[in-house]
Amino acid sequence: MTESPLRVTVWGEYVHERQNEAVAAIYPDGMHEVIASGLRDQLGQDLAVRTATLDQPEHGLTEDVLQNTDVLTWWGHKAHQRVDDRIVNRVVANVHSGMGLVVLHSGHESKLFMRLMGTTCSLRWRESDDREIVYCVNPGHPIARGLPEAFVIPRQEMYGEFFDIPQPDELVFLSSFTGGEVFRSGCCFTRGAGSIFYFSPGHETYPVYYQKEVQQVLANGVRWAGNRAVRRNRPFTSFESQIDWFENQSEAVR
Ligand code: ZN
Repeated sequence: MTESPLRVTVWGEYVHERQNEAVAAIYPDGMHEVIASGLRDQLGQDLAVRTATLDQPEHGLTEDVLQNTDVLTWWGHKAHQRVDDRIVNRVVANVHSGMGLVVLHSGHESKLFMRLMGTTCSLRWRESDDREIVYCVNPGHPIARGLPEAFVIPRQEMYGEFFDIPQPDELVFLSSFTGGEVFRSGCCFTRGAGSIFYFSPGHETYPVYYQKEVQQVLANGVRWAGNRAVRRNRPFTSFESQIDWFENQSEAVR
């Protein structure tokens, strides 16, 4: 591979792990560290990965970090409302101008994902100890590469339909649960020049991100979004630069 390594920023809210002993026992250094090391294991030298968390200045997502990120992954739950709107605008602008985004689990209700989807992103939900079967419904898709036609996550919270998202461009995984519910668990979207993959497994009280199949899905998702990412000279890196650009354009044609 002659292209430079894919630059990935793994964002973790990192609140549950510091407040809940059961979660800390599974993820002592935070879920983001396990997600990042899974990506390193799977993608090796094709990848330059860093992590960022909510409590860092600007949530660790400065202009400079985002401009040097090809794919951002997002796990949040408890503190969605603590995410600064300014940073949400900045991330949205970067997605629109070609950064890839992988949204995980309860990230479905983040300000970021709801903004990009334009819908409530609500779903049927039961905190439970379900067995989830993840079926691949798009075997030729790059995100399905190397995965079996179905795999089992032994313990999971239930996420079910109706999931209020726009129709995905591509559906890659569909899950079923012990309770009989089904859920579109792996969905692809395009917003502006950016590619977005949503993958639902990953409840904080179960060791889902240690599971090899899940790590493979995340690595494939990151690679898929990264291969489609605009990796240099993104036209807009902030909401403000987007507005400036449009203003300059309209002056130019006047
Ligand atoms: Zn959960």
